[in-house]
Amino acid sequence: MALFGTKTTTYRNYIGGEWVDAAGGKTFETKNPATGEALGVFPSSRAEDMDKAVEAAKDAYEHWRLVPAPKRGEILFRVAKLFAERKDDLAGEMTQEMGKVRPEAAGDVQEAIDMTYYMAGEGRRLFGHTTPSELRDKFMMSTRNPVGVVGAITPWNFPIAIPSWKIAPALVCGNTVVLKPAEDTPLLAERFVEIFEEAGLPPGVLNIVHGTGETVGAHLVRHPDVPLISFTGSREVGIQVTQNAAPLLKHVHLELGGKNAIIVMDDADIDLTVEGVLWSAFGTSGQRCTAASRVIAHERVYDELRSKLVGRAEKMQLGNGLDEETDVGPVINQAALDKIHSYTEIGKSEGATLETGGEVATESGLDKGFFYRPTVFGDVEPGMRIAQEEIFGPTTALIRANDIDEAIRTANGIPFGLSSSIFTRDVNKAFRAMRDLNAGITYINAGTTGAEVHLPFGGTKGTGNGHREAGQAALDFYTEWKSIYVDYSGKLQRAQIDAMDSPTP
Ligand code: NAD
Repeated sequence: MALFGTKTTTYRNYIGGEWVDAAGGKTFETKNPATGEALGVFPSSRAEDMDKAVEAAKDAYEHWRLVPAPKRGEILFRVAKLFAERKDDLAGEMTQEMGKVRPEAAGDVQEAIDMTYYMAGEGRRLFGHTTPSELRDKFMMSTRNPVGVVGAITPWNFPIAIPSWKIAPALVCGNTVVLKPAEDTPLLAERFVEIFEEAGLPPGVLNIVHGTGETVGAHLVRHPDVPLISFTGSREVGIQVTQNAAPLLKHVHLELGGKNAIIVMDDADIDLTVEGVLWSAFGTSGQRCTAASRVIAHERVYDELRSKLVGRAEKMQLGNGLDEETDVGPVINQAALDKIHSYTEIGKSEGATLETGGEVATESGLDKGFFYRPTVFGDVEPGMRIAQEEIFGPTTALIRANDIDEAIRTANGIPFGLSSSIFTRDVNKAFRAMRDLNAGITYINAGTTGAEVHLPFGGTKGTGNGHREAGQAALDFYTEWKSIYVDYSGKLQRAQIDAMDSPTP
């Protein structure tokens, strides 16, 4: 698979095992956020395209749910192997389509490899329970059953990893899927689906429909034949998805935004902390749901941390993510650049000190793309908007705290609860943080990013609605429990009533 040349290619939807144009023939084009170069032309689908995809997925479900789970898993093993073989090419294309530097793009693909292998193995587990009955000659068990068609709606920031978090567990559990990827990264979603096709997934089991969230995304959420919606994206859209799914009481899984904090205690290793903050705040240009957009530092180490962090941030090289020298790639599009800069203006007007950055970078050809300088605000108060709202760019806010209690209070004082971290050498403080930080993820002596696929992933409060991706937790969303009672006594035995009559030995 070659990297892009200058010629753009036209891509299609994948419905019922066929690559097809959208009804109406409308298209949209994607561009490289580092260079402005056109990358590909994709179908701008309508509701009727989504209807066809759902119908294909519904038909395929009747067959797929009966394929033995170990066999479903075998297809996923082949998918994982293909991801591994294509890792380098996929990473290159990802850097061109969404901008993150190539090693991070390779990490994104690796996450999909790990997730797909993990869920492939689940084909030979998908454990239920057996438990003794209160009655004689009676057997009890619970099994996991698939639910039906899953509507998977994904963002652009992890264009291979996030679809894999949803689709690998959905498929191994026996569901079929319609994927509606983000408009900014349709090419990687297309590559994702091509690999499943090549691995031998039967037609209709996985379908992809490109287009806008307001049209095909919302239609998928409302569709009466789609009982499960798995959505990753912004809080605002997550609320709309919940509202649109409510009339049919659909199961909705939400993975939304974050405002993640790193706490730095006065006994922390400051050099290690600086590494953790740089990686968490500026990696993927700050466009991770787990990005560290707040750093809550103990009064005694605040100045040392600020000066080391600012010094390092100023040395970070902006550029095309394919260039090995680049530390920070572009942000995704003009709207993101405008939003990030508007928060710089908000921070200044709120009285925070702009320590570094705070501007669009235009030198040496950067003006062809969407580049923002790594930005550090100091003297930030916990209630300021730059300390409360998700910016989703390379901006972080330094906040002071006098002790662990204040630091944890500040860390928790936001509407989100995705990731959190503490740098300390004091085991007591580490355990306090593990218990008291109100977030789905807590790191000790590491930044706020770095989840592995075999633990649950997700957040508390406004980050979601209580479900988790990854690990065993994902299976709970993509299956329904069924409890089964088998009475082999040959007579009517009434639970709770006849059980009282059984003599206690
Ligand atoms: P977004 O909410 O704008 O879009 C996400 C997806 O929803 C896209 O595919 C979009 O087309 C679709 N969509 C838009 N309107 C819709 C509607 N009315 N109905 C159905 N679908 C609709 O988010 P984004 O800008 O692509 O991604 C950034 C956001 O995602 C950030 O808030 C980030 O924190 C969050 N995110 C969360 C996680 C997590 O696991 N918690 C991971 C990655 C990103």
